[in-house]
Amino acid sequence: MPAYVITEKCDGCKGQDKTACMYICPNDLMVLDKERMKAYQRDPQMCWECLCCGKICPQQAIDLRGYADFVPMGSKCVPLRGSQDIMWTIQFRDGEIKRFKFPIRTTPEGSAQPDGGFGPGKADDINSIYLFTEPDSTGVEIPTLKK
Ligand code: SF4
Ligand code: SF4
Repeated sequence: MPAYVITEKCDGCKGQDKTACMYICPNDLMVLDKERMKAYQRDPQMCWECLCCGKICPQQAIDLRGYADFVPMGSKCVPLRGSQDIMWTIQFRDGEIKRFKFPIRTTPEGSAQPDGGFGPGKADDINSIYLFTEPDSTGVEIPTLKK
């Protein structure tokens, strides 16, 4: 089930050019209606339910509609992300509410290195068979067939 915006809660990220949900969606699905200053999800069929938009939204304005096996109809699953942890509020179908808090980082905020200190390896070549930071991070050269 795709994520959707609860318009009553959305404040359009207070008029930023690029809202938090637009910034984070890996599928470029979130759009800001600048007249109403409300975001919306432009193509539910393209949503792969990564839940990133719901986790980053500062207003808790995105309903994640999780998979039916862990969020059956009538229940809810709402994240609230802090700088050190994330709190999931789970509302069961009978109305019972439970909250679970998990740490989300082991290093100070802003200190993470995207390349883990390995550098781009050979992946800066668009035609390379290596992924980012390989082969330095794996320590393994990929064997290739001799022609
Ligand atoms: S991140 Fe939340 S508050 Fe900001 S535009 Fe998106 S839905 Fe609205
Ligand atoms: S759940 Fe993921 S793919 Fe779907 S709209 Fe949100 S950020 Fe985009």
